[in-house]
Amino acid sequence: MKITAIEAVVCHARMRNWVFVKVITDQPGLFGWGEATLEWHTRSIVGAIEDLAELIVGEDPSRVEHLWQMMWRQHFWHGNGVVRSTAIAGIDLALWDIVGKIHNVPVHKLWGGPVRDYVRLYCHLGGGNLDHFYNTPVDNAKQFADLASQAVADGFTAFKSMAVPPTMPVEGLKSIKAATACVAAMRDAVGDDIDIMVDCHARPSPAMGMQFAKALDPYGLYFLEEPCWPENLDSLAAINAAVTTPIATGERLTHLAAFRDLFGVRGCEICQLDLTHCGGFSEARRIAALAEAHRITLAPHNPQGPVSTAASIEFGFSQPSYIICESVHEDVPWRNDVVEEGFTVDPATRTVTPNTRPGLGISINEDEVRKHPFEQEVAQRVFYRDGAVGDW
Ligand SMILES: [Mg+2]
Repeated sequence: MKITAIEAVVCHARMRNWVFVKVITDQPGLFGWGEATLEWHTRSIVGAIEDLAELIVGEDPSRVEHLWQMMWRQHFWHGNGVVRSTAIAGIDLALWDIVGKIHNVPVHKLWGGPVRDYVRLYCHLGGGNLDHFYNTPVDNAKQFADLASQAVADGFTAFKSMAVPPTMPVEGLKSIKAATACVAAMRDAVGDDIDIMVDCHARPSPAMGMQFAKALDPYGLYFLEEPCWPENLDSLAAINAAVTTPIATGERLTHLAAFRDLFGVRGCEICQLDLTHCGGFSEARRIAALAEAHRITLAPHNPQGPVSTAASIEFGFSQPSYIICESVHEDVPWRNDVVEEGFTVDPATRTVTPNTRPGLGISINEDEVRKHPFEQEVAQRVFYRDGAVGDW
């Protein structure tokens, strides 16, 4: 059996261009789907997939680890840059999809079978609607509360908000009080049974991240995400040690050694590895094993397209320390026209029961995809009030 071609299939989905990766074999009808979506880097990703295809077209697709090693090591530059690691991930996910299809089992059964009955989902405020999630102003605590109530009405028992605004490296109390008011309003709206998360998007400096973490600590957040830059490992560790709220990070890390350094300083309690950025299932399974040794839990980053979601859920059924999966359902209204999924979401509880189809259990409708060709993503840029560049 041989790989005959690798295609990047781009589908413009407003905030992102989903990049689906199709690995085609010489066996009639046997191909795999992966995803290598990297917002604002679509052209680079398509090119990187083309570069990688040069290495592995003609090879046996069932030798997944061997091919992963080729992709990571054989072009001299290790595959840890985010473009290369995302492209590797897209191909790796597709290879595992193929292996599941060869053996006629869901991917999670290749690794020992399901370790839980269901996977819990959380949503963004607004369900993935760009405007609601990213652009609700923090001086409008009532809108945070209303969107929180809507998430619960939609069946979710957990949701994430962007209640920490872009913040200059040092600021006074105003932004801290605004964030606190938003979280207090959401807590009042949904009660103690619902899990609330706040994503700081690495907007704060370590000093401000510490202040936000301490101010929000009394509200019992399920986790506080990226309270400072992912490069600031010691500061992440200091914040994680200073509050009872679990700190979450990891969506911007691309390889095992980066997670080793994060876990080594105890920079988080929750590892948000992204299956589509950290080298696919092959590397993610190594990262998960390392996390297990540190008793750090897994909650994958997954705001991308439907193959990423299917992969994140397959992973959840294979990993004991996995707690919850990020999901978006309102990003584009035609999401379900593009994909048919093998897993089942209970809309009353937003829990997922396992896929029973081979591989990732998904099929992509390429005719529908062609209705949404590449468009440049809308830039999301932050400038502080003095004109200096900030983090989005
Ligand atoms: Mg995030």
